[in-house]
Amino acid sequence: MWSKWEQTQPIASRIIANSLKRNRLSHAILLQGQTVAVQLEFALFIIQAKLCTSESHSRPCGYCATCQRILHNTHPDVLRIEPDGSTIKKEQIQQLQHELTQTSFETEQQFYVLIGAELMTPQAANSLLKFLEEPTGNQTAFLLVENQAKVLPTILSRVQIVQLLPPDQKQRRQVLLQQGIDETLIFYANALSSEYAKIKQLVHDNEFQQLIADLLKYVEQLESEQYGPLIAQIGLEKWFSKRQRALEIIQLLVATYEGVIHHGEWKVTICEQLREQLTRHQAQQRIQQLLQLERNIRGNALLSLALTGYHLELMKGSSKR
Ligand SMILES: [Zn+2]
Repeated sequence: MWSKWEQTQPIASRIIANSLKRNRLSHAILLQGQTVAVQLEFALFIIQAKLCTSESHSRPCGYCATCQRILHNTHPDVLRIEPDGSTIKKEQIQQLQHELTQTSFETEQQFYVLIGAELMTPQAANSLLKFLEEPTGNQTAFLLVENQAKVLPTILSRVQIVQLLPPDQKQRRQVLLQQGIDETLIFYANALSSEYAKIKQLVHDNEFQQLIADLLKYVEQLESEQYGPLIAQIGLEKWFSKRQRALEIIQLLVATYEGVIHHGEWKVTICEQLREQLTRHQAQQRIQQLLQLERNIRGNALLSLALTGYHLELMKGSSKR
């Protein structure tokens, strides 16, 4: 499991591994950068490293009962606080302190994780501050923060800030491929978002999967002699009822033609297929026309009219070929 973090978070891993080795883990660690989901995973991993009952020191197994309970939020000495609505309230911090002052159940150490710690109300933050200054026992805090600028400076001065790197595209692709996700789907999810949590959500989303299936069929028809633009358009119309969706589709189509021009690392069948059918110049032309369609839509043109206009342009283009 370390190897995963060593690969995706080399700097943070090194910092944490060093403090674990010297048995000097800070009593308050603020994780910043990345999404909260990854921050939580990393925080739980560190806690597992401290509590895992398997033999290898500071390398948690991930499988023993302790590791599993930490993961599934059923370990009595590992507490999580999440925002109640849009904020973390003073009462939640007080409740947490109350639970922590009860004697530790199984180990001599206790851990608590504040998910979205920047969402603490000022009262909650002050309450936590006192607790950070005068802990009642052997407690380690993890503050998971997406926006460090929103955290009180007095709190920042009392925590060790560990910066996580956002995942790069290559890592995201690798992780998802290993999970058996279709490469074309990952390719398109990447075209819509650079945020790993969002990409993960998209590739598992039924509507997105359906959209991509329709999009692939559309592109095939569009570029085939047999169907052509006006027939292909029919398959796309139902997705063009909302502006936001229409803009996303344009983004996906641009990504398709960019995939035709630049090979990159992706193995996307539709791009490989189009590479046989289109010249580079034609692919560039498609992108230009799509960007014009995007401008029309952003300029508040009626979606259906804009879509038809685009396909009529394509018709003109194909008769000139
Ligand atoms: Zn374990």
